[in-house]
Amino acid sequence: MEIKPSEVSALIKAQIKDFEKKVEDDDVGTVVTYGDGIAVIYGLKDAMNGELLVFPSDVYGLVMNLNEDSIGAVLFGDSSSIKEGDIVKRTKKVFEVPVGEAFLGRVINALGQPIDGKGEIAYEKFMPVEKVAPGVMTRKSVDTTLETGIKAIDAMIPIGRGQRELIIGDRQTGKTALAIDTIINQKGKDVICVYVAIGQKSSTVARLVERLRKHNAMDYTIVLSSSASEQAPMLYISPYSGIAIAEYFMEKGKDVLIVYDDLSKHAVAYRTMSLLLKRSPGREAYPGDVFYLHSRLLERSCRLDKKYGGGSITALPIVETQSGDISAYIPTNIISITDGQIFLMTELFNRGQRPAIDSGFSVSRVGSAVQKKAMKQVAGTLKIDLANYNELAAFSQFGSDLDQETIKVLSHGERCMEVLKQAQYSPLSMVDEIIELFTVKYGFLAPISLSNIQGFLHELHQYLNTHHKELVNTLEKRMEFDEDLISKFKIAIGEYQTMFLNRYSKEVA
Ligand code: ATP
Ligand code: MG
Repeated sequence: MEIKPSEVSALIKAQIKDFEKKVEDDDVGTVVTYGDGIAVIYGLKDAMNGELLVFPSDVYGLVMNLNEDSIGAVLFGDSSSIKEGDIVKRTKKVFEVPVGEAFLGRVINALGQPIDGKGEIAYEKFMPVEKVAPGVMTRKSVDTTLETGIKAIDAMIPIGRGQRELIIGDRQTGKTALAIDTIINQKGKDVICVYVAIGQKSSTVARLVERLRKHNAMDYTIVLSSSASEQAPMLYISPYSGIAIAEYFMEKGKDVLIVYDDLSKHAVAYRTMSLLLKRSPGREAYPGDVFYLHSRLLERSCRLDKKYGGGSITALPIVETQSGDISAYIPTNIISITDGQIFLMTELFNRGQRPAIDSGFSVSRVGSAVQKKAMKQVAGTLKIDLANYNELAAFSQFGSDLDQETIKVLSHGERCMEVLKQAQYSPLSMVDEIIELFTVKYGFLAPISLSNIQGFLHELHQYLNTHHKELVNTLEKRMEFDEDLISKFKIAIGEYQTMFLNRYSKEVA
């Protein structure tokens, strides 16, 4: 049946009249209009917000708008067969996704269906995608670090299990790379990972899964993808499905890491849906409740008290900025909901400083409470050192005769920046990170030229592990330096430094 726009109101009237005759049951309604994945339904007087609806040929929808005489619903999956006049039934259930141990290692869509061609997934039960976050009384402050294996983060912006840390930056600045490296680093650390890809290309996600498999990281990871080619409702629901799966593991007392990549695309999908649902647009055309969209999602990450199972969910939401503008609507919203942010800068990235983390703008408001003592001892002044360096570097750019003190600060700063560089897919153990930062803190890199620093550090680990294994083991066990351990490390690294410099001067000669 083809309907012209002018005939719609007549149709609605006719259908409403028709409806009254045919349907007495409040649990059944009729589609008045349908288009772009959005259905307006008459009837269903008692439908709840977020309730699941069943349309003909097993198409499912979600109640989004509760108006006085109609409701708006978004539809999932292939809804091309839906037309005006179709009967809609209530399920009296909020939308749920299947969960279970068997999901580990799998790639699924926002409805929990497998999309990796590896067959059905045996689920244990269903969990609601929308749920009230655990209350304050059931929570506990973070008490364990989440080791990312990325030097710059573990040293300056430490993350605790149960924390929400935003990764923010322009496009192509290494945001995804940070999250993926963190997942790779959870190997053997008893952390379940959920990676939610929102609005990315399927081929990008496939490559990423391949990469995780190569590092044996899929054993403890679930990838949930709602691709760019899917309709807005699938994108909208995907992070909630992701956290429902994470909650299943948290309820079992596990520590979970969830990555939302990214929430900017999620907000855009929600805006699309809201405009189609005829909600009034606000700032940047987003609907007024876009803050609530992300706050109710991120609130669900926490560390539970032992009495409630003691599990945790750490969230790493990702947000894309335009030209580094963190004061746009979505970035400011999410910054205010999270416990800190890791800010990536295009300029640093292009200069070759990768990961391109800006130490000045990045903070972690929770994690420092659980940072390992030894890391605090070697990295305590790093942020200030870098701030001093950046300030002087800007000043001295054009100056030629600098005083000794300035040269020293600049040289130290350059070496700190060099130490913080790290290639992709190569997370370091906490001990190795501490040793590298120890080396720069106590000036062992001062006589090494910048271009040799990566090589110096690389061989340093080999040297220590062959000649001073005991020392490394002691540090690993204690995770704290005393005077004695400091001097022993100084002697060992000094030995190696002399050797390195000798060899290098020979090579030059
Ligand atoms: P997008 O905005 O497209 O999602 P993104 O911010 O997530 O981008 P990535 O895809 O993680 O960025 O990285 C962008 C490019 O930079 C990739 O080619 C990646 O391989 C490279 N890259 C990221 N981190 C590093 C690193 N530490 N060292 C070297 N190259 C890196
Ligand atoms: Mg990315």
